[in-house]
Amino acid sequence: MKVGQTLAFIDIELGKLLAEKPSLVTDPTLREYKHYLERILRRVPHMLSENEEQLIIMKDKSGIGAWQMLQGDWLSTRTFDIEIEGKKKRLPYGEIIGFYQSPDRDLRKRANQIVYEKLGKDELVWASALRAVCEDHLQICKLRKYPVAMTQSVIANDVDQQAIDSLMSTIEKNVGLYQRYLRLKAKLMGLDKLANYDVVAPLPNAPEMDYAWEKARGEVVEAYGEFDGELGGWVDEMFERRHIDGEVRKGKRSGAFCSSWLAGKSAYILQSFNRRLGDVYTLVHELGHAVHAYLGSRTQKPSNYEIGSCIAETGSTFGELLLTERLLSKAKTKEEKQAILANVLDEFGMAAFQVSARVFFEQSMYDLIERGEFLDGETVAKLWVAARDKIYGDSVDWLEVMKWEWTMKPHYYMANYRFYNYPYVFAQLFVFALYRLYKEEGRSFVSKLKKLLAAGSSKSPRELAAEVGFDITDEGFWEKGIKQAEEFIDRLEQTL
Ligand SMILES: [Zn+2]
Repeated sequence: MKVGQTLAFIDIELGKLLAEKPSLVTDPTLREYKHYLERILRRVPHMLSENEEQLIIMKDKSGIGAWQMLQGDWLSTRTFDIEIEGKKKRLPYGEIIGFYQSPDRDLRKRANQIVYEKLGKDELVWASALRAVCEDHLQICKLRKYPVAMTQSVIANDVDQQAIDSLMSTIEKNVGLYQRYLRLKAKLMGLDKLANYDVVAPLPNAPEMDYAWEKARGEVVEAYGEFDGELGGWVDEMFERRHIDGEVRKGKRSGAFCSSWLAGKSAYILQSFNRRLGDVYTLVHELGHAVHAYLGSRTQKPSNYEIGSCIAETGSTFGELLLTERLLSKAKTKEEKQAILANVLDEFGMAAFQVSARVFFEQSMYDLIERGEFLDGETVAKLWVAARDKIYGDSVDWLEVMKWEWTMKPHYYMANYRFYNYPYVFAQLFVFALYRLYKEEGRSFVSKLKKLLAAGSSKSPRELAAEVGFDITDEGFWEKGIKQAEEFIDRLEQTL
């Protein structure tokens, strides 16, 4: 917190300097910091006095910060009663949500029903919190002179409104493709139609794919190696130097992450490797972060290596697609192919489409407040259902209680975190588009991607895309990503 505050004031000081002398941005002696300065200059018109900035930090602490804490504390102190294999159990939130992906359909359904019923009972709390968070944001927007509610996020993510509009419009035009996948998945699951608790559920006929550590290592090293020998070598070195803690043991924290040092020191990965297909994907994903850091942190100064969320998943998701291709080429049965394709398409669908529903939802709350209407629980739920239906159409049946789905997302209650969703959509479609390009251009694309990863944050996403020949404000670029997803869906359909 303290470090963050101090660093924030360095930017404010630099901002003041740039406001007086904007020509510093193009000063040849500062060439290396050009984009870093450009980013600060863009924030200058919205910066307030030091006293005002201090006051905002203070009011957030007992304002939005308190709502965020309440939401987190509420979730972590609730218990949920559920019957599993004939035994009555009382589980915390973190545990019961594990059943959302159970192979047992009835259990998935009950877990969803129980959780959202309880969340919905406290709609008063969630609506009060969201209303305060949104209204606070609109006030700050006025104070900082942001033209629209999304501007702060667009500047923070180093993108522009035009690019995001083009991205979201591409998503809206292609909801039919996602719905086609969901109908196909229903068929593969032997259902007439998916229910909400089936959307990311495993396929019932998915074969047991068991990956020993060495086998997984071989697959991921080869996946990167087939793309580029150097990348494959770096990935193998991560195993050789024992920089990946994959052991499953008691007391280990859950989840996975890649921690990389600056100035080209090596990266370290933590995960709990359970020998499943999903674990191999996690491994290849985290190694993609390591590769990204390897290239970026060796090339860039620390100030040019603050990779924003729109670009942060480029190495990792690209790695997942390389692995997908490799595993598909080796799959022996159609069930194996289906499991691999459904895995990649489930993830794509969530990041690109489900998350888009949240973008539309958030926007609709501001529109409503601006019209002077009051956000109570039922109104917010209606907005959520409308945004959700815009994506899913009639391809999925929803439990009535799913109208409370918005209540559990901690991000909605965090300070300075408005419109955090579209970067996920951006990241996903950006990499799918790049992967498409790789398939079209072949080997000549390899050096382009490496250059892009090495650029860190020294260039904006728009400039990075321009270097591979694309304009991200043009829907044509995003359509490339959609095309790649369509190709996977076609391949899945062919297995029927
Ligand atoms: Zn990641």
